[in-house]
Amino acid sequence: TTHKLLLLPGDGIGVEISREVERVIAILNGKGGPNSFEVERDLVGGAAIDAHGVAITEEAMAKAKTADAILFGAVGGSKWDDVPYEIRPEAGLLRLRKDFDLFANLRPAICYPALADASSLKRSLVEGLDILILRELTGGTYFGEPKEIVALENGQKRGVDTTIYTTSEIERIVKVACDLARKRSGKVHMAAKWNVMKTGVLWRDVTVATHKDHAPDIELELIVADNCAMQLIRNPKQFDLIVTDNLFGDILSDEAAMMTGSLGMLPSASLGAADPQTGRSKALYEPVHGSAPDISGQGLANPIAMIASFAMALRYSCNMAAEADVIETAIAKVLDNGLRTADIMQNGLTKVGTEEMGKAIAAEIETALA
Ligand code: NAD
Repeated sequence: TTHKLLLLPGDGIGVEISREVERVIAILNGKGGPNSFEVERDLVGGAAIDAHGVAITEEAMAKAKTADAILFGAVGGSKWDDVPYEIRPEAGLLRLRKDFDLFANLRPAICYPALADASSLKRSLVEGLDILILRELTGGTYFGEPKEIVALENGQKRGVDTTIYTTSEIERIVKVACDLARKRSGKVHMAAKWNVMKTGVLWRDVTVATHKDHAPDIELELIVADNCAMQLIRNPKQFDLIVTDNLFGDILSDEAAMMTGSLGMLPSASLGAADPQTGRSKALYEPVHGSAPDISGQGLANPIAMIASFAMALRYSCNMAAEADVIETAIAKVLDNGLRTADIMQNGLTKVGTEEMGKAIAAEIETALA
């Protein structure tokens, strides 16, 4: 199988970390196995604004449409602070999310043993941690209307956000959660606030019904979202997969992520609905971090989040779980060997730049596949 990838490096360190992913792709292609990759490239974000006046061109969108997976670096930077709001760098990412209806956001929080001391929690709590937060990405409080600030007659203002969810929006994300859980520990937590929110009641009822109809083999536990936030700190390893709405997912995924050390370590995936004919989902893979203007162009960026995002693409879009494991093991080995980019540096270990880290991971992958 030839998998079509669209690589959109973007701006700042997005460009630097994308080179390291290309290095890994080249190694997999060089192995001549049953799977290979055809990589197309295009501009997104500030780079696309500079070249074409828009954050993503129709041509790039057409490439994205035919790609099996989109690999996205990062966008933004102060150079584009003054461009009109509609064409700002982030508009490229938002267009991709919207046009492909990427409603399921997967944020793994994996604590590599070598980095357990970089966490703000005790080693015993986080060592070996492997949680997946599944966040609904296209509905809820961030998109519901009305969304406004209204001036009142008494001189005060009133801010309004509206949380809206429909049965089908909840059903489809809970199905994704159950399907993912089947490939993991077989257990799902669903976090919502049915004690005080009507959307929470709907989340609870639809989750229970969907679980009963679609995945009775999966163990389901309902948890109130604020208790979930507390339990994540108290005993994070009790969780394997947490599915939740857009707002709670935003907060819980950041909380879980920070247990693992640095922003430079965190991959993510955003999946759309499965195509009824092929069964495949449109998917975009990206590091959680931004374009890091403070370190861009200096070869300091940690490429691990980007490389781990590619591993997620192999797992979820290319049916190449074994190769994804090889990449994740290679990352763990390089960390075990004491190599660190500046963001995860610890006393007594070896400080390396973006390229050296990328090359070391690539070498481990090459050895594992030899
Ligand atoms: P950021 O994630 O770019 O950086 C935050 C801090 O983390 C910085 O100190 C940075 O140096 C560090 N950092 C981030 N990634 C790193 C890596 N791989 N290796 C080492 N250190 C790393 O967030 P920010 O500074 O708030 O935003 C910078 C720009 O990125 C802004 O224009 C923002 O809008 C944009 N942004 C884009 C995305 C995206 O493309 N999805 C996400 C967040 C922010």
